[in-house]
Amino acid sequence: MNTQKKQIWIFGDYRNYFQNRVTLQLLAKARELAQKINADVCVLVMGHNTQEYVDEYIAHGADIVHSFDHKELAVYKVDKFVHLTAQLAHQYQPEIFLIGGTSFGHEYAPRVAKRLQTGLTADCVALSINDKQILVQTAPAFGGNLLAEIITPDHRPQMATVRPGTFQELPHDYERKGSVIQHDYLANPSKERIRWIRSEREPQTEQSLEKASVVICGGRGMQSKKKFKKLFDLARLICGEVGATRPVIYSRWTSPETLVGQAGKQVAPQILFSFGISGAIQHTAAISDAKFIIAINKNPHATIMKMADVAIVSDANQVCSALIKAFKKRIRI
Ligand SMILES: Cc1cc2nc3c(=O)[nH]c(=O)nc-3n(C[C@H](O)[C@H](O)[C@H](O)COP(=O)(O)OP(=O)(O)OC[C@H]3O[C@@H](n4cnc5c(N)ncnc54)[C@H](O)[C@@H]3O)c2cc1C
Repeated sequence: MNTQKKQIWIFGDYRNYFQNRVTLQLLAKARELAQKINADVCVLVMGHNTQEYVDEYIAHGADIVHSFDHKELAVYKVDKFVHLTAQLAHQYQPEIFLIGGTSFGHEYAPRVAKRLQTGLTADCVALSINDKQILVQTAPAFGGNLLAEIITPDHRPQMATVRPGTFQELPHDYERKGSVIQHDYLANPSKERIRWIRSEREPQTEQSLEKASVVICGGRGMQSKKKFKKLFDLARLICGEVGATRPVIYSRWTSPETLVGQAGKQVAPQILFSFGISGAIQHTAAISDAKFIIAINKNPHATIMKMADVAIVSDANQVCSALIKAFKKRIRI
């Protein structure tokens, strides 16, 4: 069936709903794009007992929710979800399809694009509509040194992934009305290649980096895993979140979820501490919304020092230890 009105689709990734807001952020952006091309904003929700998320998506801006609700879909399996998505997309011919740039989205989106024989731009930092009513997908290119504007003129849907924190979600509006289309789940006749054994939720004790008002970023200049761990002590004292640069992740001093930068998370805190970080564009592109930056680096000429509001030329570990001591004294621990 080819619906009259164009549709902009968003993949409804409701796992860890209260922390992971990327679907809501995409909904807000899609509302803006929909006005320009006169489209309905639709969320695709697959799972079991998902009504509460369906309601949330409508309250956040969806006009239509395409829902597959079946116990067989209670657990995410990439082949099953891709198969259903491709079938429905053939039927509804969405104009645009946006997916959160999470590890899940990075697995799912290219497979859907391949099935639909269309293009996909990964990790867009901006989306707009040009005068030909085509989606302009802005994404870092050539190692992040350039921003490329990419279009998909001939194939549909125009697909993009967007990292969490790139756009702002809209406030709830429980008065909003939307329609829900329930689709029948028909198992993929081809043999399933993935067998689910069990899943475990990673313990998430902290708030999310993207929303933290204090972020403490550490880089290679922290020098060792043991010293890097001190940043977590500091974070606990001042209710902050710890972020890291790529060399830190590669050295396994902390988990990949803390990566801040082009390939990681965008942050926008009131205060950002930067310990032992040089200030490469791939990192600083994701901290430019920080309101106040305090950088600690032993090299006064490091790029980060130029963008900092306060630049401390010193050893990062010593400053970290001194801050921990000072805060402990102040709050009498
Ligand atoms: C495609 C691509 C994507 C990338 N994506 C990301 C990304 O998302 N996030 C990211 O962070 N990087 C990313 N990178 C890597 C990025 O280019 C940089 O290499 C990285 O950000 C550098 O990390 P760093 O500042 O910790 O290390 P370095 O560049 O090695 O800098 C270490 C800094 O610590 C200082 N220092 C050393 N010892 C001390 C000390 N004792 N006290 C104080 N200061 C000290 C040094 O003066 C130096 O300025 C990407 C690269 C590519 C090509």
